[in-house]
Amino acid sequence: MVHQYKLNGYNLVLDSCSGGVHVVDEVAYDLIALYPDHTPEEIVQTLLETYRDRPDVTEAEIRECLADVESLVKSGQLYTPDTFSDIAGTFKERSGGVVKALCLHVAHTCNLNCAYCFASQGKYHGDRALMSFEVGKQALDFLIAHSGTRTNLEVDFFGGEPLMNWQVVKDLVAYARTQEGPHHKRFRFTLTTNGMLIDEDVIDFANREMDNVVLSLDGRKE
Ligand code: SF4
Repeated sequence: MVHQYKLNGYNLVLDSCSGGVHVVDEVAYDLIALYPDHTPEEIVQTLLETYRDRPDVTEAEIRECLADVESLVKSGQLYTPDTFSDIAGTFKERSGGVVKALCLHVAHTCNLNCAYCFASQGKYHGDRALMSFEVGKQALDFLIAHSGTRTNLEVDFFGGEPLMNWQVVKDLVAYARTQEGPHHKRFRFTLTTNGMLIDEDVIDFANREMDNVVLSLDGRKE
């Protein structure tokens, strides 16, 4: 599948099945959009009409651009066929329904307000909320119950900002540890945080209980 968009003056073409990203000029951008549903002659005529006021866009250049696009298609960098489409729906079936990892949204909110936030400032376009211990416990029980013969289970405390719900994180880790022996499991915990609320307690606990701490603090010093 091909996605096209314009950003900061760039014409971008993303070929999702190959992972190819192409930065192209306007003519190539329009040509790529026409490519799947038009013959070469239709493409050339349409672009000549579109750019009739641009003397720099000649028929020869359009045909050269078309040849470049065809070459990208042939080399598997554009309009690459989706070779996973037939088997994508069977992944769950083939894994036997086993779940080995959870990303626990313990804080559906954040203490920062980054304009570029992928998670709409932690609330994912929903209402701000904190996960209760009871909901987190049920999630851990679900993970154990669906983990089959896997011994090592992964849990990432995520948000928003998980340190805004720190006591619940600690209580869930304590609960998970009580379940390791009886179920023959081992939990590996990750904390993904913007770092703003890290204090001595967080550092001590993370050093003891977390296998990974992911810091996503970025931006200018202030
Ligand atoms: S710290 Fe992360 S979750 Fe919070 S607003 Fe910024 S990008 Fe979003």
